Amino acid sequence: MHLQKRILVTGGAGFLGSHLCERLVEEGHDVLCLDNFFTGTKRNIEHLITKPNFEMIRHDLVQPIFLEVDEIYNLACPASPVHYQYNPVKTVKTCIMGAIHMLGLAKRVNAKILQASTSEVYGDPVVHPQKESYWGNVNPIGLRSCYDEGKRCAETLFFDYHRQNRVNIRVVRIFNTYGPRMHPNDGRVVSNFIVQALTGQDMTVFGDGSQTRSFCYVDDLIEGMIRMMGAPDEFIGPVNLGNPGEFTILELAETIIRMTGSTSNIVFKPLPKDDPMQRKPDIALATEKLQWTPRVNLEDGLKRTISYFKAMIE
Ligand code: NAD
Ligand code: UDP
Repeated sequence: MHLQKRILVTGGAGFLGSHLCERLVEEGHDVLCLDNFFTGTKRNIEHLITKPNFEMIRHDLVQPIFLEVDEIYNLACPASPVHYQYNPVKTVKTCIMGAIHMLGLAKRVNAKILQASTSEVYGDPVVHPQKESYWGNVNPIGLRSCYDEGKRCAETLFFDYHRQNRVNIRVVRIFNTYGPRMHPNDGRVVSNFIVQALTGQDMTVFGDGSQTRSFCYVDDLIEGMIRMMGAPDEFIGPVNLGNPGEFTILELAETIIRMTGSTSNIVFKPLPKDDPMQRKPDIALATEKLQWTPRVNLEDGLKRTISYFKAMIE
């Protein structure tokens, strides 16, 4: 049996946030979902609105907020390159002001707080697969820097609040995660390819498609986040969460064409600047400390995601 807690999920109307809220509501917690609806939507959480243990707050995390909670999951931040580069200064503000405001809140009300960090802190990695001990290879002044450096500085703030103010923190570094409720236009590769395949548009492979990514299904990721929040206080991370299965982007395009029976053609477009060439998590730490390992393989996860987009498009 779980003890019921008051839990704040920032970015709760987004892709990952809505799945996390759903899971926490099911577990009987009192869930406060905070979002400014930049990339999140009410549709993602509409099935939760009628639940007595779910509440929604429209708020921009760049501004402070005062709430009484026991735990905070800090997810607010656009995650797709198209969205975080739309207003890069705002992305930096969300990462940093958001972290400061949530850490200040955690300190004041003595809440435990988990940061949704990212594999992007490793930049274009020269160490493969990436372990938590790797410090990364990040361009500080490029197009992706608002997100990469914003997330790196947020990690710094988490660890400094922990050392300086004894805030009870957890940091997870999330690798590419996909599943139902991804925004159809958010530009991320899995949603782009599925929507293109289902609507018969060209599949836009950037570069020659030889760059790799490791794709984690959303349910696995949420399980990992919840385990990390519940980990003993000595283990604060950072810990990688992701599926170590590694695929080239071209392989992903071909798999989606096959699975959807699409007649779409693959077309090659220029590789965006600073696009990492390879990415694969070393999850030994999560396995050891959280007994966590992803269960859903790429084809099974894609099947569920394709069904979601099919229903949305038809
Ligand atoms: P998403 O864009 O679907 O969700 C982000 C949510 O934050 C949205 O609902 C958005 O409206 C909200 N938001 C943005 N700026 C805000 C602000 N200033 N104030 C309040 N709300 C704000 O993206 P996601 O994939 O669900 O990602 C959630 C978190 O996980 C992000 O912090 C992201 O960096 C991290 N992450 C995700 C992935 C992934 O593959 N999905 C990988 C690494 C890290
Ligand atoms: N990508 C692609 N076609 C698209 C969208 C993305 O080839 O329509 C590539 C992109 O260049 C990158 C990979 O897919 O190499 C993953 O991109 P995404 O934006 O999903 O995530 P990230 O680059 O942040 O890992």
